[in-house]
Amino acid sequence: MTVLTGSFDAALTDKIVDGPEGFSGVEGDAAWAAEVRRLLDLRGATLLAHNYQLPAIQDVADHVGDSLALSRIAAEAPEDTIVFAGVHFMAETAKILSPDKTVLIPDQRAGCSLADSITADELRAWKADHPGAVVVSYVNTTAAVKAETDICCTSSNAVEVVASIPADRDVLFCPDQFLGAHVRRMTGRTNLHVWAGECHVHAGINGEELAAQARSHPDAELFVHPECGCATSALYLAGEGAFPSDRVKILSTGGMLDAAKASRATQVLVATEVGMLHQLRRAAPGIDFQAVNDRASCKYMKMITPAALLRCLVEGADEVDVDRDVAAAARRSVTRMIEIGQPGGGE
Ligand code: SF4
Repeated sequence: MTVLTGSFDAALTDKIVDGPEGFSGVEGDAAWAAEVRRLLDLRGATLLAHNYQLPAIQDVADHVGDSLALSRIAAEAPEDTIVFAGVHFMAETAKILSPDKTVLIPDQRAGCSLADSITADELRAWKADHPGAVVVSYVNTTAAVKAETDICCTSSNAVEVVASIPADRDVLFCPDQFLGAHVRRMTGRTNLHVWAGECHVHAGINGEELAAQARSHPDAELFVHPECGCATSALYLAGEGAFPSDRVKILSTGGMLDAAKASRATQVLVATEVGMLHQLRRAAPGIDFQAVNDRASCKYMKMITPAALLRCLVEGADEVDVDRDVAAAARRSVTRMIEIGQPGGGE
């Protein structure tokens, strides 16, 4: 990708600082937003932002949603360049579904502790220990892991995907242990082997905290948006009775926004990464939305700063590349998922 020499606002770009925690030094203000929109036009690019992005990034984007919905938007978009404001595996998924487009991520260091829980080598070794097993992987995995997978799943369709596999076949489920435990409980399947991976944001949403919130907010509803790994523990705990079941709503992004608009509750507790609160407050300004844990913030998502996005648009970096064979194999596992059931989450 070409660097846009001389065609950018140096007063802004000169402020960009690259540090170990990411790019900083630029405010997400109106001048920045105008420059971002101008550079997107210049590049003929569309900007997609995940729900857990900083509010300024969400507000300047063309589309906001969950990773799979955004990847499908990327594939259908008329633009040849996709700027994906999210973590690396999400940008990879966009590339898998749009192999001929240029996919940029504002900072390729934005990883994911859940996706990093299993490597392709580890999955190959696990498969060798369970010959004949069917591999089901959550979408929060690298392209290389998806390429070793039979069927991908999201939290919305994981139960349906596993239920579609003949009962006598072993299933290897990775990498999220909470989603795996939820699926095992829902299907009653004893031949479901679960990888012990997790997202670091899980630690902020535990059973005691959920039960304490239920006691101290007796009229509040609980929204759980489990698309990203950060809330799969809440999904599991809600099923364990940590929160009264009649007040729990397990919802995709689109479902959550619809439920917010229709809700008569005055307060809603949200069990997911705190970035989701921004879209909910915009959708239903009359409701008091509170995070079950306001420390449930993903540091990787927050690496996509105003400075990182500006640098990305000026330099045409970081470009996401996935080997063609790996992409083709990964695409098969994603396509099988779509054929089996509604992946949900934001459409
Ligand atoms: S919230 Fe968790 S699962 Fe989602 S990107 Fe961050 S580390 Fe990964």
